[in-house]
Amino acid sequence: MKKLLLGLTALAVGASLISAPSFAKDKGQIGIAMPTKSSARWISDGESMVAEFEAAGYSTDLQYAEDDIPNQLAQIENMVTKGVDVLVIAAIDGTTLSNVLENAHFAGIKVIAYDRLIRDSAYVDYYATFDNFKVGVQQATSLVSGMEERFGAGPWNVELFGGSPDDNNAYFFYDGAMSVLQPLIDAGKVNIVSGQMGMDKVGTLRWDGAVAQARMDNLLSAHYTDAKVNGVLAPYDGLSIGILSSLKGVGYGSGGLDMPIVTGQDAELPSIKSIIAGEQYSTVFKDTRELAKVAVGMADALLQGGTPEINDTKTYDNGVKVVPSYLLEPVSVDVTNYEAIVIGSGYHKAEDLQ
Ligand code: BGC
Repeated sequence: MKKLLLGLTALAVGASLISAPSFAKDKGQIGIAMPTKSSARWISDGESMVAEFEAAGYSTDLQYAEDDIPNQLAQIENMVTKGVDVLVIAAIDGTTLSNVLENAHFAGIKVIAYDRLIRDSAYVDYYATFDNFKVGVQQATSLVSGMEERFGAGPWNVELFGGSPDDNNAYFFYDGAMSVLQPLIDAGKVNIVSGQMGMDKVGTLRWDGAVAQARMDNLLSAHYTDAKVNGVLAPYDGLSIGILSSLKGVGYGSGGLDMPIVTGQDAELPSIKSIIAGEQYSTVFKDTRELAKVAVGMADALLQGGTPEINDTKTYDNGVKVVPSYLLEPVSVDVTNYEAIVIGSGYHKAEDLQ
């Protein structure tokens, strides 16, 4: 039996040696470190990158770390030891990779920060992302127009949620949103009833929906026994779904109690369904297929002696240097345009929304 298995393995290896076009993937190997599979967008990012890199002639090592920082560090260390040619990293905690990136640099490995900036390291060569400040602007703009539509001229009662404090993006989303909301707060048009403002008070560690749900429960019981909430700034669909369950739990969205306007990000399937059902109000679509293409283009240019395309050399200071970046455009999505944007682009299929 053992012999037979060995024989079969040898045959299989032989066959793959013969059938694999040996030159097709010899342009190099790319290590891709993604944060978690718990959110669909990162699965899509990973799949798109593998497909694009392979089509361009590279082999890939794609790893997910389930939001565990030591796990991601170990995965990247392994990639460095293995001698990949380029690292593409969406960091869990953007401040914890300085040592491993130094090792990567001295091993001649180029580093692309993917979606999230890696901080405190001179060895981040390029950054592929979306216009993160604009994401926040779009979230707050949609929050305000939703409240106007559902609750009239205001003033409105609003609560704020931020992303994970160890993710550089979270500050850009929050600052973008506050660029729209602060003037309305100053003018008395938006009341933050709990008084909780600033990323140190409203951040949500690891972007965890259960944490956001628990905080919303507390806000409702502490500050909304008489007052009603009109809007919640939620920076990510996974948080929005948690916040919506908390709101539904105390009767919002039924019995004449209007659902507050709740924003989001990533156009995840449960949130698009929620938007269609009239619960979540909006999300921000970021086409991860396009982001994957940008990262692949950067890596290919680096390895083939070209210059990666960038469109921003000012915004993303990682504490050591300004990282040359390519920013893609986010798109605000609600019930009026989800079909055109999210289905029309093929990001989700109409039948998946049934
Ligand atoms: C990404 C968002 C995502 C969030 C949670 C951020 O860094 O830019 O698209 O919603 O992480 O995964």
